Amino acid sequence: MLIDIKSMNDDELEKFIVDGGFPKFRAKQIRQWLSKSVESFDEMINIPKNLRDFLTSSCYISVANIEKKLISRYDKTVKYLFSFFDGECVESVLMSYKHGWSICISTQIGCKMGCTFCATGRSGFSRSLAPSEMLAQIESAQKDMNIKISNVVLMGMGEPLDNFENVVKFIRLASSPTGLNIGMRHITLSTCGIVPKIYELANQHIPVTLSVSLHAPNDEIRQRTMPIAKKYSINELLKACKDYFDTTGRRVTFEYSMISGVNDSDQNAKELAKRLEGMHSHVNLIPVNTVEGTGYIKSNIKRQQSFINILAEKNITATVRRTLGSDINASCGQLRRKHQIEGGK
Ligand code: SAH
Ligand code: SF4
Repeated sequence: MLIDIKSMNDDELEKFIVDGGFPKFRAKQIRQWLSKSVESFDEMINIPKNLRDFLTSSCYISVANIEKKLISRYDKTVKYLFSFFDGECVESVLMSYKHGWSICISTQIGCKMGCTFCATGRSGFSRSLAPSEMLAQIESAQKDMNIKISNVVLMGMGEPLDNFENVVKFIRLASSPTGLNIGMRHITLSTCGIVPKIYELANQHIPVTLSVSLHAPNDEIRQRTMPIAKKYSINELLKACKDYFDTTGRRVTFEYSMISGVNDSDQNAKELAKRLEGMHSHVNLIPVNTVEGTGYIKSNIKRQQSFINILAEKNITATVRRTLGSDINASCGQLRRKHQIEGGK
């Protein structure tokens, strides 16, 4: 069994190198090469041959291979389908903003949570990603576009808190000055709301932005679209969000996909406003992306505006998320679905 070297943190890598009989400082050089997305140890030209041979015989370098790449005609958004060593694929979306490049990465291959509106949820679950495979998505995009990415959102395929250990390790590695050096404040983790894990995350001392997929103002509507809502009530979820703010000082963002006739009435907005009143939060309204087979239709502009106005009356800030790459987007999970249907994994 070869060792996944890119998933090791600095201490682990240093110990591994020293235990192998090599000087400690080599670990730092190796880390620098790994972050540059080299694919073999022989590319590490300032590392002596005997150490390269030792690494080649004991470790592997996790990479994200570009299977497909779609570029938006309207903006600079790029959607990648990446494959890993076992042929499994995930999607990542690279977006250009005034403040720099941002990437939306996947944390699992598929998802177990089964939300009814989500393409990923509908195509089942294969496995969780290693920390190195999350890093590799960022590195591959940086290398392909010759850019430096400054923001990362864990909003691609999968439920980050269902892959807790690996995601926390990834966040530490990605923010390490010896790694990609992306500040924790520039990392956003999106969750469907696995309540005990939100408390655990708050205690990790990694002040990432927490984004909670709420999508409903009450348990009854939430349970219709999100199976996780049967396990944890909205009250329990919001209590965990308050704790996250109290512990980390980070304002929580709520995602609310607006589905016509399901969760977008004025009454729904009023109920939501009442629940969120007084919380340090921000609401992102997302007109739901149509996924084949769901029968869901996005709310119209009038509904969106009405929702924003009702929330504003209670001093809750809400914005409709800017849709980038609308021609290639078709919501996360769909590119892999298409690839699966065409005979890929
Ligand atoms: N599992 C995590 C993160 C990945 S999903 C989560 O659920 O938060 C990222 C976001 O996309 C979530 O807010 C999710 O609810 C939303 N989403 C999924 N399918 C969607 C669709 N068809 N239209 C709009 N948003 C969708
Ligand atoms: Fe999983 Fe998030 Fe999709 Fe729900 S919305 S099925 S939690 S990826």
